[in-house]
Amino acid sequence: MFDAHPQFLSAEGYTAMNIHEYQAKELMLKYGVATPPGAVAGTAEEAEAVAKSLNTTDLVIKAQIHAGGRGKGTFTNGFKGGVHLCKTAAEAKDLASKMIGQTLVTIQTGEAGKLVSKVLVGQSKEIARELYFAIVLDREAQAPVIIASTRGGMNIEDVAHETPELLLHMRVDPALGLQPYEARKLAEYLDLKGDLLKPACAIFHALYKCFIATDCSLVEINPLVVTKQNEVMALDAKFNFDDNAMFRHPDIMAYRDITEEDPREVEASKFGLSYIGLDGNIACLVNGAGLAMGTMDIIQYAGGRPANFLDVGGGANEQQVTEAFKILVSDKNVKAILVNIFGGIMKCDTIAQGIINAVKAVSLPVPLVVRLEGTNVAAGKKLLQESNLPIIAADDLADAAKKVVAAALGNK
Ligand code: GDP
Ligand code: MN
Repeated sequence: MFDAHPQFLSAEGYTAMNIHEYQAKELMLKYGVATPPGAVAGTAEEAEAVAKSLNTTDLVIKAQIHAGGRGKGTFTNGFKGGVHLCKTAAEAKDLASKMIGQTLVTIQTGEAGKLVSKVLVGQSKEIARELYFAIVLDREAQAPVIIASTRGGMNIEDVAHETPELLLHMRVDPALGLQPYEARKLAEYLDLKGDLLKPACAIFHALYKCFIATDCSLVEINPLVVTKQNEVMALDAKFNFDDNAMFRHPDIMAYRDITEEDPREVEASKFGLSYIGLDGNIACLVNGAGLAMGTMDIIQYAGGRPANFLDVGGGANEQQVTEAFKILVSDKNVKAILVNIFGGIMKCDTIAQGIINAVKAVSLPVPLVVRLEGTNVAAGKKLLQESNLPIIAADDLADAAKKVVAAALGNK
């Protein structure tokens, strides 16, 4: 998603599940969104076979990564472009062999780029016009908002920055859904008239239905095209889903590609830990999301930078605490750890015992600062003291932050 709407970026940045274009196209077909035929391939030979089966001389080969900007991307081996047109199955095979197993860098991947393990081999369409169509869940509008533009294609980011007036924003009443007159208004705005009006409205309704039914936070079709054969079709698709709703969509969960995700976050999710990786050097383990945010803030305030957000929850057991420690110490950037626990429902002595056992199981390579407060705090502190582990005890949150920042500095 381009950043015309900053509030979506923050909504999106927060653990939204992503899928590949070929999966998005499978999903769109289920909901009746017109998109060209194609299939995914994991090897050059498979790409050749798919190309043959499509029985056409208009082919497109597209690198499948969880990032856009592929058309203008460059592989680290120098090969240019993650989207290529070709005529024959032999060419499809050759192009696939140049992309699969290579790393593609685009404006959305960061410098490290992303490894391409699969390509989508599709029927290519001759494009007459490239449009932009997206549906996002807008927190401010408290509703889905449709964004449309006649300036779709690879320069939409520039359009959003330089000429935002060329983007139409339409709030959809969530109780009513997308109304037929609204779909017609969108079609008119996008200059989809005559024979194109009906198929355009059908696509808008199908996309809206798909967005709601699958708990999306973002559907972005760029480009939505008018072909030279006068069809309206989705040529590219980016879908984000609300993580918290995925329990009711096992079919979409099956689309998850963990090789595209932060390995620390993948590991944490196995143990029911709410973990978000960051790039600082002070790891923190906290119970409660609000306290975890406060802990990150105070680390920053004390001159340090947090390596993660981690909420072990109110009812964390010893195994979860141990697994949490393993994830924290596996991060090579981490120079010190801060444990900040408020014993409310859980008692401090139980937590202290969990920390002691976890530390023994993990053998800590970095200093550990612990701040405990709440029920049975005296018993908890005594346990930590008597454990003879190199734990730095802190009296309160500010003290803990100061101590952990100093410990990280001393551990360079
Ligand atoms: P992105 O760069 O990652 O957003 O990848 P897209 O799928 O949007 O492809 C980039 C560009 O390649 C599009 O804007 C189109 O101009 C072009 N493109 C993609 N698919 C096709 C196709 O099937 N036929 C033709 N002619 N061009 C295509
Ligand atoms: Mn695109």
